[in-house]
Amino acid sequence: MSAKTIFKKIIDGDIKANVVYEDDLCLAFHDVSPQAPIHVLLIPKKEVVNVADLTAQDEALAGHLLLTVNKVAEKLGISNGYRVVANCGLDGGQSVDHLHLHILAGRPLTWPPG
Ligand code: AMP
Repeated sequence: MSAKTIFKKIIDGDIKANVVYEDDLCLAFHDVSPQAPIHVLLIPKKEVVNVADLTAQDEALAGHLLLTVNKVAEKLGISNGYRVVANCGLDGGQSVDHLHLHILAGRPLTWPPG
């Protein structure tokens, strides 16, 4: 069996995270290395590597994650907009192999990203 990712360890309670939202299917917590005044990660509790690893069976889960982004934004009091990012694979700059949506807010974000 492959080693647990850092996010699986957070889901299992092996390591602590600063959790802002949790339900049966997903968990949101502050990023340890924030790239904006608000930087939260939203992850499914199911072990899915990234967007490319989602299958038709994950349709409801993927929809739930997107709808939860807005719930988290409301909970954090984000009123001026936010950016949702899912880094996928090597060229996408993914460093943790467990699907996560970055929710970034609190300053104007430039485009294009690096
Ligand atoms: P990515 O580079 O898209 O895979 O994003 C992984 C993110 O996880 C990075 O922004 C890291 O700062 C963040 N991260 C890594 N370990 C932790 C942790 N223990 N708690 C919270 N965020 C973490």
